[in-house]
Amino acid sequence: MTPAIAPHATAPDVPLLDVSGLAYDYGGVHAVQDCAFSAPAGGIVALIGGNGAGKSTTVQCVAGALRPRSGSIRFDGQDITTLPAHETVERGLALVPEGRLVFQQLSVHENLLVAGRVQRARADVSANLDKVYALFPRLKERRGQNAGSLSGGEQQMLAIGRGLMTGPRLLILDEPSLGLSPILVATIFKLIRDLNAEGITILIVEQNLHQTLAIADHAYVLEKGRVARSGPGQELLNDPAVKAAYLGVA
Ligand code: ATP
Repeated sequence: MTPAIAPHATAPDVPLLDVSGLAYDYGGVHAVQDCAFSAPAGGIVALIGGNGAGKSTTVQCVAGALRPRSGSIRFDGQDITTLPAHETVERGLALVPEGRLVFQQLSVHENLLVAGRVQRARADVSANLDKVYALFPRLKERRGQNAGSLSGGEQQMLAIGRGLMTGPRLLILDEPSLGLSPILVATIFKLIRDLNAEGITILIVEQNLHQTLAIADHAYVLEKGRVARSGPGQELLNDPAVKAAYLGVA
């Protein structure tokens, strides 16, 4: 598929996404503290870590769904720290949230149309629909069906399809493989690689560490809201400390 994405305007040495000193509190809970990471244009970057490490909170801050207490988020060289979600999406960030938040009462087709209403992709709705349906023939078959009646895997495809309808430069996937069968997990990871090969930069949060580290150019391990370790995915996959802590290998 050829997504309707703008060519990368970012200079080669400037990351597409650059986060520093990020902090977010839920009341007294310091969910994210002094978190820093970056994603080069065209890369696949992963945030990994245990339950409650702050991964979802971090990506929600990046996408503008949560407003950070402090820190800086730069996208394509511009400060987007305080932009709300409806404005970050217009810059080319698409968050596919954990839990496949689709409109349950709307049909598959309507869900995609609603997502495609953003200004940046409005002119490309019909082309993007064709691309999403080509990518997910299952969704095309079920285009008239209510999203709430789709299987978990189909809802995940629809959630990703909704993200693609916005013509993203950066696709942020929060636990896309959660609750899916091994075959569907493999399908989703292949899809992520394919989308990346088409030019979409990927930021992925995952519990499925083996497959995530295997595809990640670079990964950051979050612990208690901070980056405890980072490196190329393959390197972390072979890191004894990461293996012991996260991969269940003594
Ligand atoms: P998981 O992998 O389990 O989804 P995570 O790494 O994505 O975890 P977050 O969901 O970002 O972690 O949560 C970070 C911390 O913030 C946790 O301690 C969590 O309990 C807390 N937290 C998350 N959401 C809320 C909320 N709405 N209200 C209060 N505390 C919250």
